[in-house]
Amino acid sequence: MLVKCHRLAHSDGNRVFLTFDDGPVPGITEAVLNILEKHQVKATFFVVAEKAAAQRDIIEKMIRNGHGIGNHSLNHSFRPFFAGRKTMVEWISSAEKILQNLTGAESVGWRSPAGIQTPPLHDALKLLKMPLIHWNIRYFDTVKTWTWKSAEQSLPKIKPGSIVLLHDKQKKGNELTFLATLERFIPALKERGLVLDRLQRADFLTLSSEQ
Ligand SMILES: [Zn+2]
Repeated sequence: MLVKCHRLAHSDGNRVFLTFDDGPVPGITEAVLNILEKHQVKATFFVVAEKAAAQRDIIEKMIRNGHGIGNHSLNHSFRPFFAGRKTMVEWISSAEKILQNLTGAESVGWRSPAGIQTPPLHDALKLLKMPLIHWNIRYFDTVKTWTWKSAEQSLPKIKPGSIVLLHDKQKKGNELTFLATLERFIPALKERGLVLDRLQRADFLTLSSEQ
C-alpha cells in the first residue's frame, strides 16, 4: 500500500513553505535563522537527528523562533531503504524519538534522504502514521551554487501550497552566495503576496486529494 507523496501542502490563503534539509550545521544554519528572523518569516528544517542531537542550541533556537522541524532520518544513510520493513520502522522511529525528546513535539513528517522511496518506506510510514513530504520547487543547490538568477527564474512557479527544497548544508565556498540569494529571495516572495510559513502535520492531514 502506497502512502501519499506530498509535493504541495494544504494552504488557506497565500502560504508557501521554505524547507531546509541536511542540517543543523553550525554557522550556516544560524545564519539562515538570522535571515528568517530579520524578515519575520517561518520555515521548516528537515534535520538529520544525529546532527540535531549534537546541536541542541540550534534546535532550541528553531523552536523558539516558531519554525517547523521535520524528520530527515537518523544519519542520512541510504542502506535502510533496502533492508526491509522492520529495519525501516526502527530507523525512522529512532530518529523520531530523538527529535521528540529535543523538541517536545512530533515532527512535521518524513522526508527521505535524496527523496528515496521504496516499498518498505511506504509500509513503515503507514504504520507510523507519518506523512511523506517532498517538494515541488528545487534548485539542486547541493550540486551547484544557488544564485539569484536561478531563484528569480523560479518565482513565477511558486504558488500557494508550494514546498521549496533548499539545503542548509552547503559545499565549502558556496555558503555566502547561498545566503545572499536567500536574502533577496524572501522579500521577492513577499512582494508577490506570498506568506512564508512553517509546515505543520495538519497541513497534510487536511489535504484530501493530490493537487
Ligand atoms: Zn538530504
